[in-house]
Amino acid sequence: MKKKRPKKKKRAGKPYKTRARNLKRMGFTSYREYLESELWAGIRQRVFTRDNHECLMCGREATQVHHKRYNMDTMKGVTIDHLVSSCGGCHYRVEFKNGKRRARIYNVNAATESRIDNHERTSALHDELDRQMAAAIAAD
Ligand SMILES: [Zn+2]
Repeated sequence: MKKKRPKKKKRAGKPYKTRARNLKRMGFTSYREYLESELWAGIRQRVFTRDNHECLMCGREATQVHHKRYNMDTMKGVTIDHLVSSCGGCHYRVEFKNGKRRARIYNVNAATESRIDNHERTSALHDELDRQMAAAIAAD
């Protein structure tokens, strides 16, 4: 039987509203507080273990986790299907464009992978993006 995929509601520009709403429901006062929680530490570890501690986009050591969704099941760790191990450089690329946060959550896929693969995998730019992402997370 062919599985019908329900049409996705467009939520362009709204992922962070969803995140804020879910954080509130879970009793967190900020995303920072969530990222510092034991809950997140456990989820993060599960994602790294599943992905062999490798960035899914370039294969470097994963230091961060990219959210493809901020739905409640993901935030509670009921599922880790929408979380992707990432290095800081690739994470920056998927979250930002021209120094601004992307309006939509970037869906990491094979195309992203090969695009990044063909470019400066180990370059100084990658390291620079890595630092920028760390700074962006700290400021979140
Ligand atoms: Zn990477």
